[in-house]
Amino acid sequence: MSLLRKLKAVERLQEVDLEIDRLEGLNEKIPQQIEEEKQSVEAMKDQLDELEEQRLEQIKRRDGKEVDVKQYEKDIEKKKSDRFNVSKQEQYEAINEEIERLEKKVEEASEQYLVLDEEIEQVEGEIAEMKARLQEAQGEIDKFVKEREEQMAKNEEKLEKLYSEREKHREKLESLDSGLLRRYDRIKKKKTPVLAAIVDHTCDGCHARIPAQRINEVRQLKDIYYCESCSRMIYWQEKSETDK
Ligand SMILES: [Zn+2]
Repeated sequence: MSLLRKLKAVERLQEVDLEIDRLEGLNEKIPQQIEEEKQSVEAMKDQLDELEEQRLEQIKRRDGKEVDVKQYEKDIEKKKSDRFNVSKQEQYEAINEEIERLEKKVEEASEQYLVLDEEIEQVEGEIAEMKARLQEAQGEIDKFVKEREEQMAKNEEKLEKLYSEREKHREKLESLDSGLLRRYDRIKKKKTPVLAAIVDHTCDGCHARIPAQRINEVRQLKDIYYCESCSRMIYWQEKSETDK
């Protein structure tokens, strides 16, 4: 009977330890999850900055085209008045050619102006879309962070209770069998869970086969036995075999 009590004490300690591990694991991951979400918003902000830069660059280029057109038109006016000051036919024609060349440039620059203007409109559309997405993402992340932080606080609260529960279970096991508690701690450092049921003639922790003789001894609770392959504490669970 006392062996059974010891095993039960180990089982209860393990139950609390597993829940502590689970909650601590969750709380360890939460800051990282929050960081990842924040980074995805940062990436969107970078994209938005890039689009804004692109827009400014295009505006600069478009306005440059406008300045060019004005300059060409001024040059054309000058050439036109120059025509009055020449007497030779060749000179006159040369100026006319020059005017034609400038008019072509005006046309080209005007076309480029329109193309850039359209591109700017397109980028502005993308910027508006990105801003809306960013706003939505920001709202979602605020909600996410709040939820996660609340979850963390709840887990902390549960953990506080579990830590004192664990202390009680440890004291109990210590009083029953301090060597067993130390062995439990040693196994737990390497393997968790520490206790493994025998399922289908194998250790449920590592699935190594357990000799029939050993199974009998475990069933009869002659001692506390350990898996020879993974060194977990093995125990007999009535259900695990009779259900088959
Ligand atoms: Zn094992």
